[in-house]
Amino acid sequence: MSKIKVAELFYSIQGEGRYMGVPSVFLRTFGCNFKCAGFGMPRGVLSTEVETISFAHSNTPFTHYKDLPLVSTGCDSYASWHPDFKDLSPMLESDAIINRIIEILPYNEWRDEHLVITGGEPLLGWQRAYEDLISNHKMRGLKEITFETNGTQKLQSGFKTFLQEWKKPPLGLNSDKEITFSVSAKLPCSGEKWEEAILPEVVCEYEEVGYTYLKFVVATDRDAVDAEMAVHEYRKAGFKGPVYVMPVGGVERVYNLNNRHVAEIAMRKGWRYSDRLQVPLFKNEWGT
Ligand code: SF4
Repeated sequence: MSKIKVAELFYSIQGEGRYMGVPSVFLRTFGCNFKCAGFGMPRGVLSTEVETISFAHSNTPFTHYKDLPLVSTGCDSYASWHPDFKDLSPMLESDAIINRIIEILPYNEWRDEHLVITGGEPLLGWQRAYEDLISNHKMRGLKEITFETNGTQKLQSGFKTFLQEWKKPPLGLNSDKEITFSVSAKLPCSGEKWEEAILPEVVCEYEEVGYTYLKFVVATDRDAVDAEMAVHEYRKAGFKGPVYVMPVGGVERVYNLNNRHVAEIAMRKGWRYSDRLQVPLFKNEWGT
């Protein structure tokens, strides 16, 4: 039986992107190929907030996610990839994950809820394991899955075929299943390198499997210029999906500083605006 290292598993309202407002189960996997320490910092400066938390953790270990401090700079889900917090993410068999999912669904079965597989970077190490999870008979009622990815991980051919088969309609019927790739490609404001973060061929392949959109985290006009350059590269490679921009801000103070400005950028450029509903609604606490 397949195992996945699970950082968080919870039920909430999707706060971002296409399914904003939809009740969703979030499976947050452990591991990421980036650090994104540049978010919320001046250009070229990297946040050290996580290192401070990590130091505190080495003295007096946090035992639960909910006790970990929220950060206002860098990656807001740092504990889902930082090696110092890996012990907070148990390795679980797919049966255990499914039982927990059924337990947290409001009717203890899939109805109109949506599954978000997020991270960390969820396409980094667990693609084979998702097949076991999604094809289990208890997941039969599941109709909509979103992978929240940074758009750098190629789909393994077996997994790609599996997803294409999963959403295939029975003969003569329309499919009632949908797969979405919400691609939060990292611009220079994340602190990551352009050539490692903007990989149009990888993202174009997602479009062969499901509805795919780009969702850039931006704060300033300079970020918007970077987003425009990235969109140009994706389009040149054949990417057809829509573009969203979303404000920086894992905490309300930062989010409130730039959300309106980002909405105005979206209007000016003809892009879509994605909120971060989990920030005003739930203060972006762990498990929301
Ligand atoms: S890609 Fe996402 S999860 Fe990974 S470090 Fe960046 S913001 Fe965090």
